[in-house]
Amino acid sequence: MTLEDVLLQVESGTDKALETLKEYCRFPTISAHKKAQPETAAFVRRLLAENGFEAREYPTEGGPNVVFGQMMVDERKPTLLMYQHYDVQPVDPLNEWKRDPFDPTIQDGKFWGRGCGDTKGNLIMQLLAVQAWRAVEGRPPINLKFVVEGEEEVGSPHFASFVHANKEILKADGATIEGGDHLHEGTPKIELGCKGILYVEMVSRTASVDQHSSYAAIAPNPAWRLIHALMTLRDAKGRIKVPGWYEDARRPTARELRFLKSSLFSSQALKGFWGVSEFIGGDNDFELLRRLIYSPTCTICGFVSGYIEQGTKTVNPAVAKAKIDFRLVPNMKQEKQLAKLREHLKTKGFGDIELMPAAEKLESAAISPSARVVKAAIKGSIDAYGREPEVWPWSIGASAHGFFNEVVGVPSISGPGVSYDGSNFHAPNENIRLTDFVGGSKHMAAMFARM
Ligand SMILES: [Zn+2]
Repeated sequence: MTLEDVLLQVESGTDKALETLKEYCRFPTISAHKKAQPETAAFVRRLLAENGFEAREYPTEGGPNVVFGQMMVDERKPTLLMYQHYDVQPVDPLNEWKRDPFDPTIQDGKFWGRGCGDTKGNLIMQLLAVQAWRAVEGRPPINLKFVVEGEEEVGSPHFASFVHANKEILKADGATIEGGDHLHEGTPKIELGCKGILYVEMVSRTASVDQHSSYAAIAPNPAWRLIHALMTLRDAKGRIKVPGWYEDARRPTARELRFLKSSLFSSQALKGFWGVSEFIGGDNDFELLRRLIYSPTCTICGFVSGYIEQGTKTVNPAVAKAKIDFRLVPNMKQEKQLAKLREHLKTKGFGDIELMPAAEKLESAAISPSARVVKAAIKGSIDAYGREPEVWPWSIGASAHGFFNEVVGVPSISGPGVSYDGSNFHAPNENIRLTDFVGGSKHMAAMFARM
């Protein structure tokens, strides 16, 4: 049977694919530092062309090129679009890496290197699935498209205008966004959308210059002022206190909760990875998972003011700054939530605190479990892994789903993929397990057949 042959072919092609992944991961494509973007885009374009895709680069205004490739085998067949990004996160703190992040290695059944999980490994895994079909059948069973941008890790500031200008070429019957995780024991996971993110910098300035702290009895302190403002945003249990914040948030459906009931999610494993002793919300795994997926968040990502170097400095600072991220669940939109935040701070008497939203354009989005692309991913998992995947209504991180299922109108999911819950995305020692790389590629190859 063809599919079985294709899945075997994935295994025989794995070593060569891992060599290609090493080459890809050697590009230090840190978008936050605008590094190596043109050469990485060119590498991706060549890779797609070598694998039989019609590929080209699209310039964006002020940003790096977007790479687009397509292989149309038969216009009566469905089309699957795969979205990827070729950029990666910064690597600091560098001294916590056990190996050079841009000199990828294979050790202990794992591939190590910045970007191998997020998300360079996913593109190579998908191309391995394409190669397997071409080796066995001469071509894949459906039409395929790739779109690969270079700024996802800084919030895709130029991708939206590319999507709006190129809706036609992006049309498809389903899309996969980046990749997907595996649970610790190896079950693949798919997600039917994503949370969105509203990222703001808050600045409190109470003077034009720092003062000697002996004046603190009469001089205002911006750090205290900012802390007092922050205290009005969230309570100790994580509940956001901005009026109307939860108004638009999508509530769980019975079907979604059934998926979560059969989930293998384990909070114990996460506690182990992170060295955390207690989670907010108790220790019942179902309740924690429900909270993780359906709760919007408000997180202080960083806070600076005054003097924090060696020794003492008695200073009453002039400025305090905080960076805050709000994770938004589907139906909550950035602009509307930002307006609520502004209104709240004004009402609480903190209208003087400056609010600067980041250029993040990743909105929340989610599709129905009955979409064709979801069914194909579930069936493909049974072919490749012998079991159904773990299904989450949406991912807890932000992703590019909104561009596809809202702007272009293509229902999109996350997964199949190459990573697992210990992949250390955005952290030192990013890695993927080789078994997940092979499993992800088989899942993808099977999903092509099931579309
Ligand atoms: Zn990332």
